[in-house]
Amino acid sequence: MEPRQTLTLAVTKGRILAEALPLLARIGIRPAEEIEASRKLVFDTSLPGLRLLVLRGSDVPTYVQFGAADLGIAGKDMLMEHGGDDCYYEPVNLGIARCRLMTAAPLGAEPKAGRLRIATKYVNVARRYYAAQGRQVDIIKLYGAMELAPVMGLADEIVDIVDTGSTLTANHLEARELIAWISSRLIVNKGALKTKYALIQPLIDHLRQTPEPVQ
Ligand code: AMP
Repeated sequence: MEPRQTLTLAVTKGRILAEALPLLARIGIRPAEEIEASRKLVFDTSLPGLRLLVLRGSDVPTYVQFGAADLGIAGKDMLMEHGGDDCYYEPVNLGIARCRLMTAAPLGAEPKAGRLRIATKYVNVARRYYAAQGRQVDIIKLYGAMELAPVMGLADEIVDIVDTGSTLTANHLEARELIAWISSRLIVNKGALKTKYALIQPLIDHLRQTPEPVQ
């Protein structure tokens, strides 16, 4: 008898996990224990053979790209930044954790002529975006608290996620240009979809049918 196939789903911790768990519950997938109360990173679920990995958003596409996870749930911002999409499909827009990826600058500041300094953790997205605008920029990689960079004179603008805008306002910044509307996506390793089609395709179909998916 063939050994039973297993599936691994990598989910982005934080807000995406919180909004993904009810979607997964609706299709019968519940973690075997409470994720928030645990320091574990791998969780069995109510679906035999399906494990959840709880990872940083930037690591989810990497796990799926290399097949260490068969499926992933990650923000479109992380997928745009990662860019390894020749190894995975993106079959479902889950419509959760919606926000905008934007440029932002000090409140009321005149657009600066000449070379701009841009602070962001989205260095690839920012490089592509400003190049497409024909603007010369120097990109400064930060790992957090991007809002601080213009205030402290480290950068002229930032590229960051904006939801309500209150983080920008609290730091005397304002949103300027929309780079992309963001929501979380289901991604699937291309090889895994072939070898585990009978397990993965029903999950894709069920997630497509849950309320609220948007294209
Ligand atoms: P806000 O003050 O509501 O505009 O939220 C901005 C901050 O919240 C950002 O700097 C992000 O760190 C975080 N944030 C908001 N929405 C999301 C999301 N959908 N995914 C990840 N981070 C988010």
